[in-house]
Amino acid sequence: MTVTLSYIEQKFDEFNQLCFNGELSRPRFGLFKARNAMGRVKCYKEKRADGTSFYKQFSIEMNRAYDLNEQVFEDCIIHEMIHYYIISHQIQDTSPHGKVFRSMMNDINSRFDRHVNINYKMTADDLKHERVIHEHCICVMHMKDGRMTLAICAKSRVLRCAIIIQDLPNVADSQWFVSFNPFFNRFMHSTKYLHMYDISSEELNRHLADAVKLIRKGNIMIAEKEIRRPK
Ligand SMILES: [Zn+2]
Repeated sequence: MTVTLSYIEQKFDEFNQLCFNGELSRPRFGLFKARNAMGRVKCYKEKRADGTSFYKQFSIEMNRAYDLNEQVFEDCIIHEMIHYYIISHQIQDTSPHGKVFRSMMNDINSRFDRHVNINYKMTADDLKHERVIHEHCICVMHMKDGRMTLAICAKSRVLRCAIIIQDLPNVADSQWFVSFNPFFNRFMHSTKYLHMYDISSEELNRHLADAVKLIRKGNIMIAEKEIRRPK
C-alpha cells in the first residue's frame, strides 16, 4: 500500500470522528522518507509574555518509504494522532510516550480493537518491501566449512570490521563491496558486534551485480571504480 496525502487526510478524518470525538482540528499533512520512524508530529513552540510556552502550527507527517498493510498504517496514524491530541491540547505528559499517551492508547486499543503500540518494529516482510536507497558496505566471507556469509556495516566502520574479520579463525577469505541495492536493507548493520548472515552464492551474485569492489591498501579502503549513488 502506498501512502498519499489524500489518504492520510481521509484516515485522519475517519479516526478523528471514531476515536477522538471529532475534537481534533485538521493539521497540515506531509510525507517523508526515513528508515526508523513511521510518522511524526511537528509543531512550533511559542513563548507567552509570562514566560510559559505553548505549541502551535501542527503537522502530521507519515513515512512513505514502507509498503505497509492498511491495518498497520492505520495503527501508525492513530499513534501520531494521540501525540497530536496531547500536544495540541497543551497537555504535559511524563515522557513522549508517557502516562497520558499510554492511557489514551490502551483506551483506543480496547474500545476499537486496534493494535496501536509504542515501538513499531519492522517485520522481515516490511523490510523486504522497503525501497529506500541506502549505501551498504558489504563484506562477503567464504567460510572454511564452505558456507558463504555476509556482514554489512556503515562506511565509517569498514576498516574496523575488516580488521576484525581478517582475524576470524573460521573465515577463509573475504571481499568488500559497496552496493545501493535495497535487497541489502533487510540485514542488520554491524556496529559493535558483527552480524553475519548465511547466503547462497547465486543469490549474492545476483544482488551484487552492480556493486563496486573495495580493496584494502594498508589502512584505507579504495573503491575499484567510482561509486555512483542511483537517483
Ligand atoms: Zn510516538
